[in-house]
Amino acid sequence: MVYSWLKNVHYALLPGRCILCRASSGRPMDLCAACELSLSGRWPHCHHCGLPAPGDTEFCGSCLNQGFSFRYCIALAVYQHPVDRLIQLFKYQRRMAIGKVLAELLSHRLLQHYQREPRPDVVIPVPLHWRRQWRRGFNQAHFLAAKLARQLDIPLQSDCLARQQPTSPQQGMPRRQRLRNLRHAFNVAATPRGLHVALVDDVVTTGATADVLCRMLLEHGAEQVDVWCLARTPPHQ
Ligand SMILES: [Zn+2]
Ligand SMILES: [Zn+2]
Repeated sequence: MVYSWLKNVHYALLPGRCILCRASSGRPMDLCAACELSLSGRWPHCHHCGLPAPGDTEFCGSCLNQGFSFRYCIALAVYQHPVDRLIQLFKYQRRMAIGKVLAELLSHRLLQHYQREPRPDVVIPVPLHWRRQWRRGFNQAHFLAAKLARQLDIPLQSDCLARQQPTSPQQGMPRRQRLRNLRHAFNVAATPRGLHVALVDDVVTTGATADVLCRMLLEHGAEQVDVWCLARTPPHQ
């Protein structure tokens, strides 16, 4: 309540500027209504893996064959122009205004989704290895998770997962070895017993990291894990 009041005062004094077309947005958000359509247009997708599918479906063909351990992957967009560029600016050039806008759009999507489903009990960001976080200056997943937790009124728990090793590039490695490396890279520091968890990352590419983390959370007693991300990368990219 106080947050939205402060936000309105801020934008009354300093009108919003669109992060995409740079025009005045004319509303309390740094995104104009026309550009919002291009960013958060709906696309038919599989509710389980979050990937584009010929029609909205609970499970796409590949998920029916071999699904992930999370229940839903809820993404704002497909990782393609202009969202890919915006995420890169946010993540690598610390353009926080962009991160804020994307988090707000994702929170609208999540609020719609959880009208028909119970909301998670806790929001947990995918951790970055300390060395990478130190170099980047922040953990983008933590930034997003904090914003989403506030907008959905769900507690944030940032110390549940820890990254003990940086994951090296895993391309070309056999799948089994890739998964084993991922598993060793993380540990569960606080037990999410009986909790419905929302796991937050900026981009879900193959889904392998999210899947491994979900498995670990479920093994530590989590009841259900949903994945929230800004963008989902289609397999051919
Ligand atoms: Zn615009
Ligand atoms: Zn699917």
